[in-house]
Amino acid sequence: MTTQIDFFGGVDEIGGNKIRVSNDTNSIFLDFGMSFSQSNDYFSEFLQPRKANGISDFLELNLLPNINGIYRKDYLNHCGLVCSENPSIDGVLLSHAHMDHSAYIHHLREDIPIYLTEPSYLIMKAIEATTSASFNEILTLKKSFYLKRKKRIKEGSSEFTEAKGLEYQISRPIHVINPYDEFLIGNLKIISAPVDHSLPGASAFFIDTGDERIVYTGDLRFHGRHPELTNKFVKEAKKFSPSIMISEGTRIDSTSNINEQSIEDSASKIVSNFEGHVIVNYPIRDLDRFLTFYNVAMNTNRRFAVNLKQAYILKLFDGHGYPKINDVDVYIPKKSGEW
Ligand SMILES: [Zn+2]
Repeated sequence: MTTQIDFFGGVDEIGGNKIRVSNDTNSIFLDFGMSFSQSNDYFSEFLQPRKANGISDFLELNLLPNINGIYRKDYLNHCGLVCSENPSIDGVLLSHAHMDHSAYIHHLREDIPIYLTEPSYLIMKAIEATTSASFNEILTLKKSFYLKRKKRIKEGSSEFTEAKGLEYQISRPIHVINPYDEFLIGNLKIISAPVDHSLPGASAFFIDTGDERIVYTGDLRFHGRHPELTNKFVKEAKKFSPSIMISEGTRIDSTSNINEQSIEDSASKIVSNFEGHVIVNYPIRDLDRFLTFYNVAMNTNRRFAVNLKQAYILKLFDGHGYPKINDVDVYIPKKSGEW
């Protein structure tokens, strides 16, 4: 048995992880994320890859690795590229739902299974339902570039229109994984180990390929609201006796960190000295930071109002230990022209 590890992103950059682990019989990806640094070399918020070109902009610019048997058929067909009958990988282990680890799953074939934790699944659901981001077909793939015949054809217009609707949507094979339960992908033995990160559901993985024992940390931290998760991961990783560890290292050389409690304390102090409305900004999927500002509002006798996207996430995460939707106010923006 020989193990091979190929890095197609995530080296000398923050995120963009696309790491292929193969032994003689099976092959998986650890994350399939978007590289912000590479993407920013060519695109910006207002200049995005051309959807009309399918996958070719991404392959031309090396934003996606040129690997046979992993990309979706609709995009390949549209660019005149060959689509193999079967996928060349057996699955993707998703460490967490940040774009730099997950977004390019959008481009993968619909028959490649995705393994992720329940909170990651819920976050993906929220992203699909509430964002218009270009790469959000993580759970459900909506086939593009299919035409169907129009029911009524106006004189001089085309007979065809782009096919949309439920029959052109495919649910990807999603496997929700549980903490520390061993599962198999072919003959690769895998265990998911929850870690604390800035959004819920982050997981490290232990992978036994037969001749190597790999620990993949994903993104983790010790200074969040759940350091016990990361501490348990460290203990279990030691017991696993890894021969290889693949780790995120963005802040590996920093020696101090501010924890959520000290953010809550300082923000409470500032807000209590102020009389008017207070507006705060934070990533809405960072539920620990949401909780910090919710606590600040409670500490200073204020009501906490959230937008509709945040409200939807709170509804999905009901029962996961965060404030419930009834604990906050929800503000609904007026439609334009309405006063
Ligand atoms: Zn992350």
